[in-house]
Order: sequence, then structure tokens, then C-alpha cells
Amino acid sequence: MINTIAVIGTGTMGRGIGYAAALAGFQVHLYDINEESLKEAETYIKTQLEKALLRGLTTEKDADQVLNKLLYTTDLRVAAEEADLVIEAVLEVMDLKTKIFRELDEITAPHTILATNTSTMSPTEIAAQTKRPDRCIAMHFFNPVPKMKLIEVICGLETSEETIERVMEVGTQMGKECVRVNEFPGFAVSRMNCLIGNEAMNMVMEGVATVEDVDKAMKLGLNHPMGPLELADLVGLDTRLRNMEYLHQTLGEKYRPCPILVKYVKAGRLGRKTGQGFYSYS
Ligand code: NAD
Repeated sequence: MINTIAVIGTGTMGRGIGYAAALAGFQVHLYDINEESLKEAETYIKTQLEKALLRGLTTEKDADQVLNKLLYTTDLRVAAEEADLVIEAVLEVMDLKTKIFRELDEITAPHTILATNTSTMSPTEIAAQTKRPDRCIAMHFFNPVPKMKLIEVICGLETSEETIERVMEVGTQMGKECVRVNEFPGFAVSRMNCLIGNEAMNMVMEGVATVEDVDKAMKLGLNHPMGPLELADLVGLDTRLRNMEYLHQTLGEKYRPCPILVKYVKAGRLGRKTGQGFYSYS
């Protein structure tokens, strides 16, 4: 039975996962090494609740109940030791994820399930750092988490059927639809989506069309709700570059990151989160 969920990393994804989990009635412990990120996560969640109140989607009493379910901490032990499920959402860097999984394996109870929100990486490799590979899995949420319906559930080599069932139950309680995917770099969605985004960037670089027109073409021509460049800005260009680098390394040449993406990240243009990416956000 999953009552308490710890979320590790409270950036773009972690804060959304924490909010969606608290809304679904779980106790949620949010952890980050960066106090600023934790504060931003708290502000984000309060703002989401205020908007829901204004739209009549929740009541003061329910909003208070959600707030009471949340704990923010910079102490990994405090966040994880009582958790039944941990969802890791730190940077897409394998060494960082494996280090955190080793620590979590020491801190958490034997029954605790350890999940990663990686967009591309091997849950088997991450699970191999622990003594519980059967209770390790990837739960790939989508951005923005409160709105997006899908969770890709990716089974590593040793993931047990019971672990898969438990995380799918959690997904359902959060109002999401889960698809089960076998491990392969980029899973089902990132593998395709990163390629579309990268091709859009290459087309802008080649002068095929402007940023705005590439996005407009995909929205009006193929009925995509967002253009690929708008979406890359929403994801975060640093995160997208790490995704591309991993896919390039594991799947080969067609995933080589577009030079514009590399240049923008070097310049600190990371998309919405810094106010400047393919578009400007003031
Ligand atoms: P982000 O850069 O917005 O946030 C990462 C957070 O991790 C930051 O708050 C940072 O302070 C924290 N962090 C860094 N090192 C840490 C450590 N040692 N311990 C604890 N916290 C630490 O990144 P994001 O976009 O939220 O991505 C997180 C994960 O989710 C990545 O694996 C990414 O591939 C995946 N993902 C991202 C998206 C997206 O649209 N951004 C979508 C699906 C999955």
C-alpha cells in the first residue's frame, strides 16, 4: 500500500509530480539540494491551488488539505525514510541518478519502490546500483505534469510484476493513463519527440522557415497542440540537450544534437525557465 511518496529534485518535473501526487491524496515529501528550487516549488504549488480556487475547481478546505500533505526538505533521509515510493526527478545525468539510487537504497525501507522519471536512460543500469532491482522502475511523466495524462511505465530487466502493478495503481490514482514500455533508449515518446524537435532546429538553421513558421506548420498542418520549438522551450533546452546526447550515444548518428541547441545552452538560453530560448518570454 502506497501512502507516502518522496520526490527527489523539485525542478520543472519534480514540483509538478509533487503537486499531482498531493492532489491525489498521497503524503508527499519534496527534496532538493537547492533551497531556491524548493522555495520555487512551494510557490508553484500554492499558485496552482490559488488558480484552481479562482476557477471554482477546488474549495478552501480541500486546498488546505493538499497543502498539509506536503513537506519540503533539503535532507534526503527526512524525505525518503518513510516513503513507500520514491520518484527521482533530478538532472538527466546517469552518474547523478546512480549516486542517488545508491543512497536511497540505504535509507529507505525494504518494501519501498524506487522510480526514476528519466526521459531516456536505462532503468536497468540505475537499478543495478541497488540491492532491490525488482523494486526499481521508470515512471516517465510529461510536462506540465498536472495537465498531461500519460505516464510511460518502463520496466527494467529485473522489475517485478508487483512493482509494475503498484506504480500503475499510483498513476491511476493520480488520474493518469499508463502505458507499459520495455526498456530501450528514449522509450516510446522521447525517442520520437526528440527527433522531431531536433529536425525542427536543423530546419531553422538551414533557413527552411522561421521558428514561428516551423511551429505554425506543425500545429496547423499536423494538428500538434504545440510546435516542436515551443515544446523544446517548455521542456528546457539544457534537459533536451542531455536527452539528445544520451540518444546520440546509444542510438547513433541520427540523434546528433543540432548545433543551435548546443549554442543556446552554452549561452544560457534554456527556454521558458530563463526567459529566452527559441522564443522570448518577458
Ligand atoms: P530541472 O533542471 O528543471 O530540475 C532538476 C532539479 O534537480 C533541480 O531543482 C536541481 O536543483 C535538482 N538537483 C540537482 N542535483 C540534485 C541532487 N544531487 N539531489 C537533489 N536534487 C538535485 O530538470 P527537469 O526538467 O525537471 O528534469 C528532471 C528529470 O525529468 C530529468 O531526468 C528529465 O530528463 C526528466 N523529464 C523532463 C521533462 C521536461 O519536460 N522537462 C519531461 C519528462 C521527464
